Amino acid sequence: MAGEAHTAAATEPIETDAVVIGAGPIGLYQVFQLGLQEIRTHVVDALPHPGGQPLELYPDKPIYDIPAIQVCTGRELVASLLRQIEPMDAHFHLGQKVSQVERRPDGRFLITTDRGTRLIAPTLFIAAGVGAFEPRRLKLPALVPHEGRQVFHQAHDTAELANQHVVIVGGDDVALEWAIRLSRPGPAQPASVTLVHRRDAFQADPDTVAQVRALITGQALRFEAGQITGAVDSPDGLSAVEITSPDGSIHALPLGCLLVFLGLSPRLGTIADWGLAMERKQLLVDTEKFSTSVAGIFAVGDINTYPGKKKLIVCGFHECTLAAFAAAPLVHPERQVMLQYTTTSTRLHELLGVAVPRGSE
Ligand SMILES: Cc1cc2nc3c(=O)[nH]c(=O)nc-3n(C[C@H](O)[C@H](O)[C@H](O)COP(=O)(O)OP(=O)(O)OC[C@H]3O[C@@H](n4cnc5c(N)ncnc54)[C@H](O)[C@@H]3O)c2cc1C
Repeated sequence: MAGEAHTAAATEPIETDAVVIGAGPIGLYQVFQLGLQEIRTHVVDALPHPGGQPLELYPDKPIYDIPAIQVCTGRELVASLLRQIEPMDAHFHLGQKVSQVERRPDGRFLITTDRGTRLIAPTLFIAAGVGAFEPRRLKLPALVPHEGRQVFHQAHDTAELANQHVVIVGGDDVALEWAIRLSRPGPAQPASVTLVHRRDAFQADPDTVAQVRALITGQALRFEAGQITGAVDSPDGLSAVEITSPDGSIHALPLGCLLVFLGLSPRLGTIADWGLAMERKQLLVDTEKFSTSVAGIFAVGDINTYPGKKKLIVCGFHECTLAAFAAAPLVHPERQVMLQYTTTSTRLHELLGVAVPRGSE
């Protein structure tokens, strides 16, 4: 990945030229265009990896309308963008959501994440798409006090599951891959693994489904069709969940740990509280600079709206280009902003790391 990936929260505020919120395709291309303007960037994304919708929602589906690429999958598009931005050396803060944006007395912005990372920059680019991707939760308030102790929504350290009765909820690839991983003999094997899904049919890769079926037949994995509709507490914590079967009967399933893999859903979060003009949950921008109603804060990609807006990747790429040109005088007021071609500009070649060493031309 380009630059350095930070997963731990930094204690001191980090000063930079620009912060990009969102590492979807548009946030990634924003990094590239900012790099061409010699603007250093830090990128924040709620997900543990860059990629946004193409990687989360359609990683293996073909895209046919990226200019000059006849066809590529969502995963390939993201991999290509990451390769393209490598020379820009952006720093990534992943697995954290931007929760607050404030204007400081010196005119720069203080951007704070839910993990305590603080970034200070004169420019901010919101490429937040349809919102921060968060794991879907079971709508059971009784489970909330156990989150992080016995109830988990993301990948979990398998060593901590040794000798425990583990229940996995879900029917997609992620849920099934966890069921397979935990059911296989290994040094940190749980005491039992039970997969719970609302019906006996899965939305996953056929090979993965076949492996799960084989484990169920071989009794390495238990399967229960039904929905979790209640929780049973004991003095030591969560001791069981109540399963409502398709026939309406209810029974308790004892457990030590509950892994919930019900997919991700986007949430707009606090963006609406940052004092920016909005229309139908989208940020209003002009089409000259793609600036929001606050100077220095730009919005690009699916998060913005303007007359004629089309939520397409190619349109977001154009928005990034104009936003980067508009940001250049804010970051480098002493310089004149010039249009340069990547084909012919020696300076751009240096920035891209493709400069021909002097004397060898
Ligand atoms: C099934 C499907 C097929 C599609 N096919 C095509 C196609 O063929 N061609 C095309 O042009 N478009 C297509 N699209 C649309 C395209 O995927 C979107 O236009 C594009 O992903 C928008 O990119 P983005 O970077 O603006 O937002 P996203 O891809 O949504 O990325 C936004 C990122 O911001 C992060 N984020 C949001 N809020 C915060 C926050 N507060 N803090 C930290 N991180 C945050 C999110 O976690 C996310 O990773 C398709 C969409 C879908 C659903």
